Amino acid sequence: MSPASLDKPLTLALSKGRIFDETMPLLAAAGIHVTENPESSRKLIIPTSSENLQLIIVRASDVPTYVQYGAADFGIAGKDVLHEHVAEHPGGLYQPVDLNIARCRLCVAVRRGFDYEAAVHQGARLRVATKYVQAAREHFAAKGVYVDLIKLYGSMELAPLVGLADAIVDLVSTGGTLKANNLVAVEEVAQISSRLIVNQASLKTRSAELQPLIDAFSRASAGLA
Ligand code: ATP
Ligand code: MG
Repeated sequence: MSPASLDKPLTLALSKGRIFDETMPLLAAAGIHVTENPESSRKLIIPTSSENLQLIIVRASDVPTYVQYGAADFGIAGKDVLHEHVAEHPGGLYQPVDLNIARCRLCVAVRRGFDYEAAVHQGARLRVATKYVQAAREHFAAKGVYVDLIKLYGSMELAPLVGLADAIVDLVSTGGTLKANNLVAVEEVAQISSRLIVNQASLKTRSAELQPLIDAFSRASAGLA
């Protein structure tokens, strides 16, 4: 869990797409600009206008791992990803700021026409496919509903359509993907946004460099709440 070495620039771990895009204004608020676009560039290490800050582009669910091991000093990850990660690998991550970016909802969804309430009240075991097994397990346990959880890594929407599961637990923002696949959200599991996460050793050894960035992100994101 050692921090990146002192002669290196600070390293911020991000995933491309939504989180990268919505982080750029937060960096700009700290006076930092990025010219390289990870969507078109194949570079995984991206310099910034600050000599003391570089970005690494990793898979969304890998961001906490890079930060936890100190390969990145800090990172930005959705609460969905963080919740699953922390359940399996507790410790080592400090989560100082909710950045209010990449907002969406974690929902239970079923095929249109599937009587979810009846299925739940009958007490039969519900088959639930999801990437978010931890959040799903806790959600249904709190409701007292027995579930068989089926772990998937993507395209959860397909599962109820082909009989793999009765329900899915997945992220919803506009609902467009659900609608296109004849699914409906029937319950909210959690409201999701992304948090800044910091390696605990980095926070101690490089706080003079990190703290101004944490503060700038914090101020810029407060306006997004
Ligand atoms: P991968 O595409 O690498 O399999 P992923 O699908 O989890 O991983 P993204 O789609 O880039 O990765 O999502 C990254 C994060 O953005 C999610 O963990 C979540 O916090 C947030 N997010 C995902 N989908 C939405 C959405 N529809 N609206 C808003 N935020 C979202
Ligand atoms: Mg994706």
